[in-house]
Amino acid sequence: MIDHPEPTHLDDGSGLDTDVLIVGAGVTGIYQLYLAHKSGFSALLLEAGGGVGGTWYWNRYPGCRFDSESYTYAYLFSKELFDEWEWAELFAEQPETERYLNHVVDRFDLRRHMRFDARVTAATYDEPAGTWTVVADDGSRLRSRYLVATTGVLSVPFYPDLPGRQDFRGVSFHTGLWPESPVEFAGRRVAVIGTGSSGVQIAPVIADQVASLTVYQRSANWCTPLNNAPITPEEHRRLRAGFEAMREVLNTSLAGFLHPANERSAFDDSEDERRVFFETMWNSPGFAKLSSNYADVLFDDAANAEWCEFIAKKVRDIVGDPETADKLIPKDHGFGEKRPPFVTDYYEMYNNPKVSLIDLKETPIVRITERGIETTEGEAEFDIVVWATGFDFGTGALLRMGIRGRDGLALEDHWADGPRTFLGLQTTGFPNLFFPGGPHAAAGNNPRYNGDQVEFITHALTFVRDHGYDIIEVGPELEDEWTAMVDRGASKSPFGEASYFFGTNIPGKPRKYLLNSGGRPKLFKEIAKVVANDYQAFRLSRSSDGGDRGEG
Ligand code: NAP
Repeated sequence: MIDHPEPTHLDDGSGLDTDVLIVGAGVTGIYQLYLAHKSGFSALLLEAGGGVGGTWYWNRYPGCRFDSESYTYAYLFSKELFDEWEWAELFAEQPETERYLNHVVDRFDLRRHMRFDARVTAATYDEPAGTWTVVADDGSRLRSRYLVATTGVLSVPFYPDLPGRQDFRGVSFHTGLWPESPVEFAGRRVAVIGTGSSGVQIAPVIADQVASLTVYQRSANWCTPLNNAPITPEEHRRLRAGFEAMREVLNTSLAGFLHPANERSAFDDSEDERRVFFETMWNSPGFAKLSSNYADVLFDDAANAEWCEFIAKKVRDIVGDPETADKLIPKDHGFGEKRPPFVTDYYEMYNNPKVSLIDLKETPIVRITERGIETTEGEAEFDIVVWATGFDFGTGALLRMGIRGRDGLALEDHWADGPRTFLGLQTTGFPNLFFPGGPHAAAGNNPRYNGDQVEFITHALTFVRDHGYDIIEVGPELEDEWTAMVDRGASKSPFGEASYFFGTNIPGKPRKYLLNSGGRPKLFKEIAKVVANDYQAFRLSRSSDGGDRGEG
């Protein structure tokens, strides 16, 4: 057994180790730990990694950075915290984000409530006690009243099932499991497999160092410039002064961004006006190209085609070799049908003679060999293979934790046809379990709506405690309702079924929409209703007598 300072049994005769057990030290878990303590609960956090950060701990590959504006992604619960952290760049690089999250943990004295290198392997609901017993691979076995799984939506790396992956004699890394010690790229022959947000971020950053870089692309993506910039002292002053106004905009926007919505449609403008507007979009920061673009660009095929043609022309202008340029232009989906990556020097990189692009639609990978990668055109040798092949989105981590609810119900069985939730944070048959930042919550700038859920959970637990209950669970009717709302919203979403938001990238995974098209406004509205109705939406009961209240 490992010598841990925490926990001791609570001194309340309950035999519990803690009131709230949190799993995952990412943005959401840290906030949940902070708020649980602030609200008078004992709370403890288990984390599989060796440090704080969650996605910003594991994804430490070169070039990894935000594509939400740093200050809109960061915590907004403390003006003092906001004032004292000066983000260096509009879109911070991973090391700064990791430093920031460590700063938050230390500033609010949370580290002593955290255990690292402790991956949860089982979580079992105990009836009739109404508690959870949680086991981790460091030997921890803890009993808690409430279990909050803040395990993230992009935390289980996906490796395609290609023959021979284990045979490769060089070194290989998944972007989502990047090692802490620096990887030496200088003079190495490097392959990057995958051209989603991770692949297109790492490739240009290592291109100058390597002996050769070969990018294996199965599907081209609509990449547009991130347009990163340092944040000036003047900008920092402006941000501090406008903190409350900024919070208000973020809290009322559909996706948790500051970019103003545009009411004009693409064909309200003449061709020349459109070109000028698209140029402004091309030069705008990150997600402004979705949020502030023409109102119909994501929903009208003709408008979308105009924007795509504008991007395609940019690609042809930037990339010297017309054949490479053509391969880099998507033919199978419109802009926004998949989550678009934002890039710096990505297309420019292909003018570097050391860089080549393999189109896997023309020459698929046959197998990974001891020396490299074999496609239908032959074998190429590499020293390093980077797997930028994505994640088991939304449900991956929750379904791997061995969660067992009432009557031993396995979460994998309850969600066999896709996740079923109320508010994207509870599921029927699993009392006292919450999963903020999981599937079905909203869509957009994650910390904003994950934060809403954490605040709601903390409020709910406080209500439960203050009213003499200790079990809270959602009944099947509300779970059905929210899940049906999510399913209906899938057709209103710009994302197509080829997007990993439908689980399409994982073989055998049910094709179900994993986001909530209603976004934060829908989440806010429903949360407000639940609170206004004194949590009657939930079933509240006492473990001692099982007394039930609420129809759920
Ligand atoms: P991803 O978007 O799922 O991309 C995975 C890539 O791997 C795709 O190009 C995919 O091709 C390819 N791939 C999968 N299986 C393959 C196979 N068998 N053979 C060849 N290629 C294969 O994953 P990601 O790039 O890690 O990004 C995931 C998400 O993480 C992003 O959408 C974003 O939300 C987040 N992220 C954010 C940032 C940021 O800027 N803040 C950076 C990185 C990641 P297909 O398209 O053909 O399936």
